[in-house]
Amino acid sequence: MSRDGTIAIIGAGIAGAAAARRLREAGREIVVLDKGRAPGGRMATRRGPDGLRFDHGAQYFTARDPRFIARVEDWTTRGVAAPWGGPDRHVGTPGMAAPVRDLLDGLDVQCGRAVGRLARDGRAWRLAEADGTALADGAAFSAVLLTCPSPQTLALLESAGQALPGVAEVAYAPCWTLMLAHDGPPLPGGPVREDRDSSATIAWIAENGGKPGRAGDGTIVAHASPAWSRVHLECAADDVAERLVGALRNIVPLGGIRHCAAHRWRYAAVERAVGEPCLFAPGTGLGFAGDGCLGPRVEFAYLSGLALAERVLAEAA
Ligand SMILES: Cc1cc2nc3c(=O)[nH]c(=O)nc-3n(C[C@H](O)[C@H](O)[C@H](O)COP(=O)(O)OP(=O)(O)OC[C@H]3O[C@@H](n4cnc5c(N)ncnc54)[C@H](O)[C@@H]3O)c2cc1C
Repeated sequence: MSRDGTIAIIGAGIAGAAAARRLREAGREIVVLDKGRAPGGRMATRRGPDGLRFDHGAQYFTARDPRFIARVEDWTTRGVAAPWGGPDRHVGTPGMAAPVRDLLDGLDVQCGRAVGRLARDGRAWRLAEADGTALADGAAFSAVLLTCPSPQTLALLESAGQALPGVAEVAYAPCWTLMLAHDGPPLPGGPVREDRDSSATIAWIAENGGKPGRAGDGTIVAHASPAWSRVHLECAADDVAERLVGALRNIVPLGGIRHCAAHRWRYAAVERAVGEPCLFAPGTGLGFAGDGCLGPRVEFAYLSGLALAERVLAEAA
């Protein structure tokens, strides 16, 4: 691995952002590429009509590791995060992506860039879209840190004829999310239903507008259970939204519906993780981090990104 080379980080979720921030603080040149319109990954906020906003991915995060506790305390002091929903629970403010944006502040982040191929060029890596169009101005990278969910990571590794043992074993549960605005009374603060392992249709219900820094009551986010989401994975979003509204009506009082939409997360929650903080092959400079390494939590994804950055720095030392 070249000492002076720039490092490419694929994925601007919390894992990629944690790795990017740590490497930049250590003086390394980094470029972060993400296929989405904005950083955040599964820490995401979806806009609806009339200024409606829904945190449709991660609902809150815990902070139990001292390194993440320190980070969350800093975010809380600066208004980037706030407590919500119970002891040791936090949300980004004004939306769930705020902590990711904070970590990436001032860094070279290129969104709307879907990496489709990795190609070895001597001891360096070049990145391209699926159709072969060069990315990052054709730059050569000394290391490529993959922080996408494992199926997307596997596809990129295969494009380069590479493997990182363990990535293929990671398994995810899908999740259909309902985003709904209605004219009825707002739900009580905190989660109204929280039973992620349930075989019932709906596993999670919360008033989105009741989270700190959000405007607008009467905005509900509901997650279908993994079992229901799996069965309905390939259904049309409109059909799913209608079914989930029907199920929601049996649980909470709803007024006239102003907006409703469903979003499918194909890789929502890790069901089987690698069991190591990160994967890194010093010979090739390829690494993998994210919740696929330690488990289905924002905090674990952050710690995994941090661990990968430390591995890269240790190799270069
Ligand atoms: C519905 C739902 C509810 C959840 N609830 C909670 C919760 O309450 N608490 C909690 O702690 N966790 C929760 N999670 C899990 C949590 O969101 C994740 O563990 C965490 O955000 C994962 O971060 P990450 O950086 O590993 O991956 P991601 O956030 O998925 O980031 C990966 C990034 O890679 C990008 N990418 C993928 N492929 C490519 C490519 N080819 N080229 C460029 N970019 C690419 C994606 O656009 C994405 O931005 C939930 C997740 C979902 C979906």
